[in-house]
Amino acid sequence: MELSATQQARRWDRPFWKPIRGKEGVFTYLVLIHLLSVIGLILFPLPSLKVIGMTLLFNGSGHPASWVAYHRLHHAVTDLPEDISSPKQGGFWWAHLRWLYQTEPADKKHWAPELTGGIYRMWGWAETPVILLSIFIGLILGLGWMGFFWMGALRLVYSLHLQCLVNSLTHLGEAKEGDSSINVWWLGPFQLTAWGENWHKNHHTHAGSARLGLRWYQTDIGWYFIWMLEAIGLAHSVKRPRAS
Ligand SMILES: [Zn+2]
Repeated sequence: MELSATQQARRWDRPFWKPIRGKEGVFTYLVLIHLLSVIGLILFPLPSLKVIGMTLLFNGSGHPASWVAYHRLHHAVTDLPEDISSPKQGGFWWAHLRWLYQTEPADKKHWAPELTGGIYRMWGWAETPVILLSIFIGLILGLGWMGFFWMGALRLVYSLHLQCLVNSLTHLGEAKEGDSSINVWWLGPFQLTAWGENWHKNHHTHAGSARLGLRWYQTDIGWYFIWMLEAIGLAHSVKRPRAS
């Protein structure tokens, strides 16, 4: 049955277990990695150091044009009803996970045209093999079932939720209308795993900047890494915050 325009605009009213047509694969992937993570945690509560060391591979984010398009759309209409991932509109779980399988994909040609041609075309066929490789990498490298669970599902669930927290947790501000992004300062030691993404208010204020932690005490591991790449000549044209 076709949804009316009003029903489409309130996508979060849909039951959470119902993906929209065309997003069944995303929903199945999310259920699969969570299920495997639970089994992995029961069988191997703690991974070995060798397995931890090998987990820094592929995070399953998919085609760059798709997440860049989602990201630019989010910035263009932040926390308005047109925003695909706003907790202000659909609540925490909508912003955290549900929008991934209950919204139409952002138009890549409109929002990220420079990433849809040339070398980026390879993502059209590479996306699924990379996801499969991400899930099975532990077994492929001969690290047994512990490697399978910890390097596959558990690592993917960790990187997925860290990314999703940017959409949910860091948009729980009080703004009456529009941008409700906040800097989350209370992470303590978990700050080291957030890669600076918790300074999300800073990111919305200086959207073009690669640096998210603007003060010396705002830990920003991602920025330190980019700064280092620039220092040794492996990154160039790195954008910094505007002077204001
Ligand atoms: Zn945001």
